[in-house]
Amino acid sequence: MAARKHNIDRSRESYDAATSALKRALGSRVRTDEESLFRASFDGSKLCYFPDAVIAVRAERDIGTVLALANKHGVPVTVRGGGTSLTGSGSPIRGGWVLDVSALDSIVIYEREGMAEVGVGAKISAIQKAAEDAGWYYPPDPSSKDHSTIGGNIACNAGGMHGAKYGVTRDFVLALTGFLPTGERVKWGGRFKKFACGYNLRDLWIGSEGTLGVVTSAVLKLVPKPEAKWTLVAAFAEEAVALGAVQALIGRRLLPSILEFLDRHSVQCAERATGRSLFPEQRGKPLLLVEIDGTAGEVAAKQQDVLAWAAEHAVASAEARTSEEAEKLWEVRRKCSGAMFELGDAKLNEDVVVPLFSQVAFAGFLDELQRSSRLPIATFGHAGDGNFHVNIMYHRDDAAESKRAEKVVQRLMRKVVALGGTITGEHGIGLAKTPFLRLDRSEAEVRAMLAIKHALDPRGIMNPGKIFEVFEVWKHRPIKIRLPWDHR
Ligand SMILES: Cc1cc2nc3c(=O)[nH]c(=O)nc-3n(C[C@H](O)[C@H](O)[C@H](O)COP(=O)(O)OP(=O)(O)OC[C@H]3O[C@@H](n4cnc5c(N)ncnc54)[C@H](O)[C@@H]3O)c2cc1C
Repeated sequence: MAARKHNIDRSRESYDAATSALKRALGSRVRTDEESLFRASFDGSKLCYFPDAVIAVRAERDIGTVLALANKHGVPVTVRGGGTSLTGSGSPIRGGWVLDVSALDSIVIYEREGMAEVGVGAKISAIQKAAEDAGWYYPPDPSSKDHSTIGGNIACNAGGMHGAKYGVTRDFVLALTGFLPTGERVKWGGRFKKFACGYNLRDLWIGSEGTLGVVTSAVLKLVPKPEAKWTLVAAFAEEAVALGAVQALIGRRLLPSILEFLDRHSVQCAERATGRSLFPEQRGKPLLLVEIDGTAGEVAAKQQDVLAWAAEHAVASAEARTSEEAEKLWEVRRKCSGAMFELGDAKLNEDVVVPLFSQVAFAGFLDELQRSSRLPIATFGHAGDGNFHVNIMYHRDDAAESKRAEKVVQRLMRKVVALGGTITGEHGIGLAKTPFLRLDRSEAEVRAMLAIKHALDPRGIMNPGKIFEVFEVWKHRPIKIRLPWDHR
């Protein structure tokens, strides 16, 4: 366990009196031992700030009790699902209480309706398995699917590899139940497909990063499980050619279920970390991974189109011969994020979006950024929806490298906005993107968001310090810890 003295944000208040009242109300569900506080003090960003207590929620009503007391005493509350957020949105920067909802993990599939009703602690891979066992399909699939929860996915509006065809978490949420920051229980939507009954606060909660309330359960839309899938890996002469080919593929009216890009650095890191090769004959080349799905007839027809596209644009391509072979490719792709740590022990991990028409220009910019910064920058991501993970790697103890990493991220953010894109496509703002919110959103837009925040959370207890207050992430040292999804 990392020594506590390195981790406390010493400027914050202590909430001892309120925590004693909480213990009287919820007994052993309130944890204040060092180990529990440490485990809840950071997320996937490894930015570490100790809370005063962790509440291991066992039932919905616990949350009402916690919020009533938090409002009374003005205690910050940070909700925690799987703790995989990469932006620090789950780090309790102001101390207070962490509400661990991971035990609310029920999953019920309504087979005859094509819906799932899930507790927020349910892991994405468990929801997908339950749906598939019933002949249905839940497409959003963040690479963290074995660790992240549906509550966290809703709070961050998580995406994943299937976004190009199916969309993101928001597109599958029919209803949400939970608590307003004031402790009142509410439900937006129901076990039905549409509603037009007043303001839609369901959609406002999605992507609000735990700043507007606590979600406790969700009704999700499922789609029929695709009958057939076909996977192709294609290598390109260089990154700009690969990204130009993305536009060409979509221009052919083909909508792959997955269309993933890996630049040459990402390919090398992922292959070394997993000991597996994505395309053994084409080492050192950027790749696109393409999956098409549908009925057997649809897949067979589209397959010919995709092969013609590959012959025109790629230097080589290969089909996955079996579903196991395809799964191995996806497994290597899913490990990209953790694999980057061979290039440095700290990472500024961005998830910028650029419009399709700007992708080739973006590839040229990344090349130049790499050369001028003299830092390893590896980019991979969901090319089909223009969402790229740009990983700026550096060494946390090297002041010059840290400074260069800061400059790189500033240039990157300015560039994606200039290219008509946005600073985050699926991870959200959290702490890490706060310096750039106002680059992307106008003052009027930020004011409108803050008006909503103040109306719903008058005491400002929900996840304070996130989204709106500038936090210069490069000045804060992530802790050294190996998480289950790190590969080195
Ligand atoms: C290896 C790796 C790969 C990843 N790949 C992807 C990817 O492909 N696509 C993608 O979108 N993201 C990805 N992520 C980021 C991360 O997994 C997502 O942001 C995910 O949605 C976080 O879910 P979680 O359960 O871990 O939430 P946490 O990290 O616990 O929390 C995230 C935020 O949600 C809030 N929150 C959690 N539960 C609730 C709730 N019940 N009510 C209200 N607020 C809540 C928290 O307060 C916090 O602000 C990846 C992360 C890692 C480590």
